[in-house]
Amino acid sequence: MGMERYDGCKQGVLSASLWLSGHGYFGSPRGTGGNVSVRVGGEDAMAITPSGARYQDLTASDICIVGLDLGLIEATGAHKPSVESGMHGIIYRNRPDVNAVVHTHQPYGSVLAVLGMPIPALFDEAAFSLGRSVEVVHYAPPGSLELVENVGRKLQNNANAYLMENHGVLVLGEDLEQTLFHAELLEKTARIYCLALSTGREVRTLPGPVAEMVQAHRDREVREAGNRRKEKA
Ligand code: 13P
Ligand code: ZN
Repeated sequence: MGMERYDGCKQGVLSASLWLSGHGYFGSPRGTGGNVSVRVGGEDAMAITPSGARYQDLTASDICIVGLDLGLIEATGAHKPSVESGMHGIIYRNRPDVNAVVHTHQPYGSVLAVLGMPIPALFDEAAFSLGRSVEVVHYAPPGSLELVENVGRKLQNNANAYLMENHGVLVLGEDLEQTLFHAELLEKTARIYCLALSTGREVRTLPGPVAEMVQAHRDREVREAGNRRKEKA
């Protein structure tokens, strides 16, 4: 039960954070915004980025291990876990299909977050990956219990992406690699949606029956992941 136990998770969180930071997903290259976590397999715990640290300065040992109920398991040095640990925890507790979560301040997603505009189903790949609609989570201050509750209420739509009103975005996936891909897909879709809206013309959404298939697909993924988790337990 030494430090090594969590090394793989910590390294994964660090690599994902550096990739997101390097590709502008935290809004500003020197900023400390956003946070990244991964579920620790076989435990009710997650590895999560520390609060307020510059990503370029981090090493794997700076990544914190926190219980899904927010009990601190391991934090080295002067680091405290992300102020959004509660938001990550409520996702893992309620979504058996999710094993990695990223919260970013990515530019085009943030445009729609300040407009408070959900993203409808526009492209097949994005819709099947992200969900029938990328909904807006109502504003509450960063790190607040109210924000955790607002996110908790939205999770039942089984989507893999949400806009956080006047803040940024939240992206979920079955592992870190898929979650990064979902963040890319969200940014691409948000960019196209913003450009399309800027013409003032009508934006075409996917036909209703396709949107229904998307929802059925997401519901099935979550149900099957829940069943697998129950069989293991
Ligand atoms: P942390 O640095 O505590 O993770 O907070 C950053 C952030 O984006 C808050 O919403
Ligand atoms: Zn934030």
